[in-house]
Amino acid sequence: MRLRPTPEERQFADLAAEWLSRNVPREPRPPAGEPMAAFDRAWQRLQYDAGWAGVAWPKEYGGAGLSLVEQMIWFEQCARFDAPEPGVLNIALGHAGPVLIAEGTDTQRQDHLAAILRGDQVWAQGFSEPEAGSDLAALRTRGVVDGDHLVVDGTKIWTTGAHLSDWQELLVRTDPAAARHRGLSFAIVDLTTPGVEVRPITAMDGKVHFAQVFYDGVRIPLRNLVGGLGDGWKVAMTTLGFERGTMTLGTVIRLLKLIDDVKELARTRVDCRGQPLSTSDEVAARLADLEAEGVALHALAVAFVSEVKRTGSSSAGSMIRPLYAELSQRVKRTGAELLGRDGLTTDGTDEAARFVPAYLHSFGHTIGTGTAEVQRNVIAHRVLGLPRG
Ligand SMILES: Cc1cc2nc3c(=O)[nH]c(=O)nc-3n(C[C@H](O)[C@H](O)[C@H](O)COP(=O)(O)OP(=O)(O)OC[C@H]3O[C@@H](n4cnc5c(N)ncnc54)[C@H](O)[C@@H]3O)c2cc1C
Repeated sequence: MRLRPTPEERQFADLAAEWLSRNVPREPRPPAGEPMAAFDRAWQRLQYDAGWAGVAWPKEYGGAGLSLVEQMIWFEQCARFDAPEPGVLNIALGHAGPVLIAEGTDTQRQDHLAAILRGDQVWAQGFSEPEAGSDLAALRTRGVVDGDHLVVDGTKIWTTGAHLSDWQELLVRTDPAAARHRGLSFAIVDLTTPGVEVRPITAMDGKVHFAQVFYDGVRIPLRNLVGGLGDGWKVAMTTLGFERGTMTLGTVIRLLKLIDDVKELARTRVDCRGQPLSTSDEVAARLADLEAEGVALHALAVAFVSEVKRTGSSSAGSMIRPLYAELSQRVKRTGAELLGRDGLTTDGTDEAARFVPAYLHSFGHTIGTGTAEVQRNVIAHRVLGLPRG
């Protein structure tokens, strides 16, 4: 594993820093709804027009054609300059695009990849159902072939951003007679198609992050299948590979910045004797633990990127997401707790507005993209080769 940047990588970082220092939006991101989505799309468009979108995507699909190392450097510089995160474009950029690069047809790539990089397409992921979450292969939403269309009936739940999305990755059962994992297909759905109904769900932080989506006789052209009919499980696993690996890299870097912000909070907030909270041994020990875990997680992310660059794949990817999810909860909880009474409201002070909703939202990190328990099972079986219980 190589931790020091090469001269070329240093030059890339300097160029990124120079552009970000001039272009990061200074106005606050609207908190919800279409104005928030418009802000995210505009920031993405700015990056695209300047050649910074899709750093590790192939040039033929509108990307910069560089490696994951440069992608990590870009994420580091974005965190350094407090650039907005992809927001509503997270799924489009994080796995819809990469899945189409890996498994899509030429037409699908032409229809979607450049549009995703421009910020013109917001995507959602329709995998989970009320009775199929960890046990994804139990899903029942069905797709029946009718001429050159698939007709879909059923429901998906916890679909992040569905209420703001244009397109969806949809996993459906197309062959009820086949073995559970074999009878599935992966389709691209235009969410404006007749028969699609999106019902937003309010989460415990009081915001709408996800929705339940209902499908009533929704007609999807068969050319929108990714992989063939019945190949859905393979495409879904490719999707989860991106979701739990490369897509988490940017959030890991942001978490390191947040750990610094929590340390700063401990230096600036005072206890009842007027002493900075950081002078307490208990607080200092807690911050030291967070810092050490953050550094270890970053090292794992660097090892992952370095191995992918050398060999094309890395088993470290499956460990990054669960470690990130649990550390992220602890960092945000520490921030909220250091605020004392201010931490009991979501918007009493600027600091409360920053840490408290983030803490409440972080409970979902150990559930979304696969629960912490299920991801530990994946590490046990696929990385360590342990037998199934
Ligand atoms: C914030 C958030 C965003 C989400 N976004 C999306 C999205 O965009 N698209 C989408 O399709 N889904 C999304 N989800 C759904 C998410 O993928 C599921 O909630 C998750 O897979 C768990 O499924 P479940 O809720 O049905 O819980 P269950 O699978 O019923 O699990 C319940 C409990 O049992 C445990 N458990 C289950 N099976 C095992 C096992 N084999 N071994 C050990 N323990 C086990 C789980 O760890 C958990 O504690 C999101 C969820 C959250 C919280």
